Amino acid sequence: MIAREHGLMNKTNQKQDNLSLDEIVTAGLCMGCGLCRSIAGSDRVEIAMTPEGRERPIELRPLDEKTLDAIDATCPGIRVPSAEPESIPEGAETDTVWGPATQMAIGYATEPEIRHRGSSGGVLTALATYLLERKEVDFILHVAASKERPIASEPRLSFDAVSVLEASGSRYGPGHPLIDFMEVLDLNRPFAVVGKPCDITAIRNLERRDSRVKQLVRYCLSLICGGMSDLSKMLSVLDQFGVRETVLHEPFLNLYYFSQWRRSDRFGDNEQHLDYGTNQVMEHIKSQTKPVCFMKDMAYQTLPYIDRHFLNQPLKHTFLVRNPKKSLLSWYRLNEFPTAEEFGFDDLKALWQIVIEENQPKTIVVDADRLQSDPENTFKSYCQAVGIEFYPEMLSWKEERVKQDSSHKAKVFSPWHQIVENSTGILPPTEPVGEIRSQDMPMLERAMETYNSLSQFALK
Ligand SMILES: Cc1cc2nc3c(=O)[nH]c(=O)nc-3n(C[C@H](O)[C@H](O)[C@H](O)COP(=O)(O)OP(=O)(O)OC[C@H]3O[C@@H](n4cnc5c(N)ncnc54)[C@H](O)[C@@H]3O)c2cc1C
Ligand code: SF4
Repeated sequence: MIAREHGLMNKTNQKQDNLSLDEIVTAGLCMGCGLCRSIAGSDRVEIAMTPEGRERPIELRPLDEKTLDAIDATCPGIRVPSAEPESIPEGAETDTVWGPATQMAIGYATEPEIRHRGSSGGVLTALATYLLERKEVDFILHVAASKERPIASEPRLSFDAVSVLEASGSRYGPGHPLIDFMEVLDLNRPFAVVGKPCDITAIRNLERRDSRVKQLVRYCLSLICGGMSDLSKMLSVLDQFGVRETVLHEPFLNLYYFSQWRRSDRFGDNEQHLDYGTNQVMEHIKSQTKPVCFMKDMAYQTLPYIDRHFLNQPLKHTFLVRNPKKSLLSWYRLNEFPTAEEFGFDDLKALWQIVIEENQPKTIVVDADRLQSDPENTFKSYCQAVGIEFYPEMLSWKEERVKQDSSHKAKVFSPWHQIVENSTGILPPTEPVGEIRSQDMPMLERAMETYNSLSQFALK
């Protein structure tokens, strides 16, 4: 057992029966296959992203000896046995490093699209497709780009050639292919696995304990792997090319205030944006290609125009809510008085209801006071909730003018951005100063109700 050779002993210098997950991870032996999570269950083990960008198991609740036994016997980080002698075909040549081999061949997929899209000739994709088409297996377990966050990888069950092809190519970052392996066995259907050698080792280890593996895992196809890179490395490559994330700042604003379809005359005509319609805004949003796109907008600017189908895409919705009294006094401070629509809480409530109906588990609420009081921890919780890496530079910026797409907009909105332009970080919250106008009281009371009902879900 490799871990024993790494000197993992208990305090009395006696060998422990089982290594804990923490010991496996701390010794640098885990490769993030996810099998232990599948064995222990998601209520006891979670696969989490470390600050370096590695996926590693964390014990949520103590594991009993039986579970630890199963993990220790199957974890490919600590068990790399040689092939069972009876499984080695007659005449196979055995190499000390590579093990037994019966044949070595050079080849590539003959289907041009598979060959082109595959990592190095598309052999794995071609073989997996062949197995499906010949009905040798019902599906392929492998990994593919996450639909929600394409830079990340996730396990995929492919039941047809289209899905197999979509997942072709090498995913050099973490991907936890075996995170649901026991559930996949529970399907009780024959399948093939494409994975890294360590993933396949985990399956072979499990085969010695669970007879279903031999019966159901009909083929294991593996690739040459010189090691997996951390997600943070991939992010820094993207950084170097300036392709990490995009921020869309209020894309619906021009439509709401300046176009011929505008709902407010607050700022008068603006020739440049007169013909800027919903289609153009939606095209602009959908044309973003970077791995992460943050789009910030006001509910009242968005709701009258946005494509409802778009809201139901796999997006992560965040509601940033602020105490309405503070919000209203900010308008007054600039000598501006919002209409009930511009005050925004009615549309915020309507948007919340639409999103919650479709997207409840993914909807995130951030309270502005909490964000201002404890920016670092709120950002960390937020990053975790949306599935991106937190980095401290998120909390500061250079003193500079907020960029606008026209001089007219720059003039109109400059008073709103004064505090942010003259600061370099998130300022602590301040107590609101001033009186609310009597005619605004009904609007404020309604807004308070919405604020209170949303802020109870705010990230801690
Ligand atoms: C982490 C990693 C390290 C590698 N290191 C080397 C190396 O050191 N030297 C070298 O020559 N080549 C390396 N490769 C490339 C690898 O050898 C090729 O992917 C292999 O030749 C298969 O090519 P293909 O065209 O047949 O695969 P394709 O037809 O493109 O199919 C690839 C299949 O592998 C699956 N897959 C992709 N990434 C992963 C992953 N991370 N975990 C599990 N399954 C995955 C996909 O789901 C797909 O089914 C590495 C690949 C990976 C993913
Ligand atoms: S089973 Fe896989 S994920 Fe779990 S500790 Fe071992 S290598 Fe890591």
